[in-house]
Amino acid sequence: MSSPKKNADPGPGARVLSRRHIDIVLNCPQKPENIGGSARAVHNMGLGSLILVRPRTINEELTAATATVHALPVLESMKTFSSLREALLPYELVVGTTARGGSRRGDLYSPRQLAPELLFAGNPRPVALVFGPERMGLSTEDLRLCQKTVRIPTDSPEASSLNLAQAVLILGYELLLAAGGESPPPPSVRAAAQETVLNMYDDLESTLLKIGFLPQDNPGHWLMNIKKIFNRSRLTAGECDLLRGICRQIRWAVNNMDRLD
Ligand code: SAH
Repeated sequence: MSSPKKNADPGPGARVLSRRHIDIVLNCPQKPENIGGSARAVHNMGLGSLILVRPRTINEELTAATATVHALPVLESMKTFSSLREALLPYELVVGTTARGGSRRGDLYSPRQLAPELLFAGNPRPVALVFGPERMGLSTEDLRLCQKTVRIPTDSPEASSLNLAQAVLILGYELLLAAGGESPPPPSVRAAAQETVLNMYDDLESTLLKIGFLPQDNPGHWLMNIKKIFNRSRLTAGECDLLRGICRQIRWAVNNMDRLD
């Protein structure tokens, strides 16, 4: 590890908290695709560094191909250690990840439960999220080096084991959401002013009267049921114009039947 990263001050007005102080540590990863996939997840979710501990093979080509060109900087700054203990020395908070429960694994948190704590930790020293090898996962001994353990919920205990890089991605995604990085909802439609809607209803009423759809006595009562449909959808000014255009055309057509095909 180079110098520990501080939890970056998001600055006034900024809504997304930094995740750059949260490093991903892969203990004994076996497949280059998972190293590349994890680098990609680190890049996608704005996490800190990728750290390897005793990787089984280093196939740079395959790793880089899976990381894609976007995550190459993550691979370039990646560091490799020969023991998990040594790799974890610089951290303030170390969180292990496991697919399995069990009494010896202690309290298991979900990513969503733990994310806020991870975001606000890491000052002055960073936070490590530790992932185990594909086949065996982290051993009980490895987990003893961790202060907390997180497990991603799955459909059933039999389906608990995720792909390593996908597990990294899910943790990163939950951290992004907790940091406020969810993209804002699409702008809500601007509903038409009441005057515009009422004018459209007047047009509709006179048109439906003209074609005999509404009874002459108390048409407002019958129109109410039609209004209910429109009121549910919060019409825009453009939609009111469209409906008025239809009414206009109906009235014209009634008076000009001979000119229609
Ligand atoms: N076969 C192993 C799982 C190894 S999967 C076992 O049964 O324990 C490789 C790594 O991906 C795990 O060590 C863990 O770091 C991560 N991982 C996989 N599934 C996970 C889950 N449901 N929750 C948290 N991490 C998980």
